[in-house]
Amino acid sequence: MRPVNTPHPETWLKVTPSGLFCEPGGFFIDPTRAVDRAVISHGHSDHARPGHAHVLATRETLAIMTARMGEGRAGTAQQALRCGETLEINGVRLWLRPAGHVLGSAQVCMEWRGSRAVVSGDYKRQADPTAAGFEVEPCDLFVTEATFALPVFRHPPPETEIARLLRSVALFPERTHVVGCYSLGKCQRLIAMLRQAGWDRPIHLHGAHQALCRTYEELGVRLGTLRAATVARKEDLKGAIVLAPPGAVADRWARRLAEPVVAVASGWMRVRQRAKQSGVELPLVISDHADWDELLATCTEVQAPEVWVTHGREDALIHALGLRGIKGRALHLVGLGEEEDEVEVVTEDPAA
Ligand SMILES: [Zn+2]
Repeated sequence: MRPVNTPHPETWLKVTPSGLFCEPGGFFIDPTRAVDRAVISHGHSDHARPGHAHVLATRETLAIMTARMGEGRAGTAQQALRCGETLEINGVRLWLRPAGHVLGSAQVCMEWRGSRAVVSGDYKRQADPTAAGFEVEPCDLFVTEATFALPVFRHPPPETEIARLLRSVALFPERTHVVGCYSLGKCQRLIAMLRQAGWDRPIHLHGAHQALCRTYEELGVRLGTLRAATVARKEDLKGAIVLAPPGAVADRWARRLAEPVVAVASGWMRVRQRAKQSGVELPLVISDHADWDELLATCTEVQAPEVWVTHGREDALIHALGLRGIKGRALHLVGLGEEEDEVEVVTEDPAA
């Protein structure tokens, strides 16, 4: 608990139209508009916007931003900070800790005059072979997402979902399994988990997924043999696994595959109705976001008396936190939750 003479975090961490602003440090965290100084939690486009003058993030996030936005648009000046390293900016101590969400994702930890705030960005507690695991940082204020903050959202162990996919592949060797998944994070996590489960055949990729897989490999994540799905013959894709953006799996692109079994890997697949409406035959509940239990456990473990909720289903979470003696506040930050899992699979832009 914060000693009585330290400032309340809301006196130095401000909610502005551009996002969270650390006033004494003079920097924004995941700003929604181009700013002078930005600290970026991870590379998803709703957190990492183009056009900032100065960007501080992990080396991996900077590389992902550059790969997606192009040289120059991912910060005129880039500064890499390793998890565990500490910087001092105008009297604010700043450090990063892994968030377990995607490669390079980090929680932004700040301390000013003895008062500590942690902005977690997006995070999950499940194991992910492509992202360093979430680390608990005790704080006075914890800022959390709430994408899946309803008791109905409980993600099963991801290994069981991968096993379901491989069982289906074994059952239908004449058909192509096309798995809809987001291009940053989910795609590479699925590949790595398939490899862990012993799938050593080539994995085929939609064009939208190829660049970031290359970036992951350049950053040291081994994904095995990957092939472009577009140049493969229909005959060669029988019994194969193809990864594509969620928006592509149920449209014309997938119909050229051999009797495709349409799968989608997303936390939303817990809602069977949504899976059915999207024409998904094999829903896989695999999410890069914390589920209900993980959100509550994390908000408790960080021991913060106060939790701010950036976006998502804040009402249920704030109510549940109140029952545990934790004060909750909804920030209603606009512009967050517009990428990856948080978008309905049928409306996602395959080119994004
Ligand atoms: Zn994200």
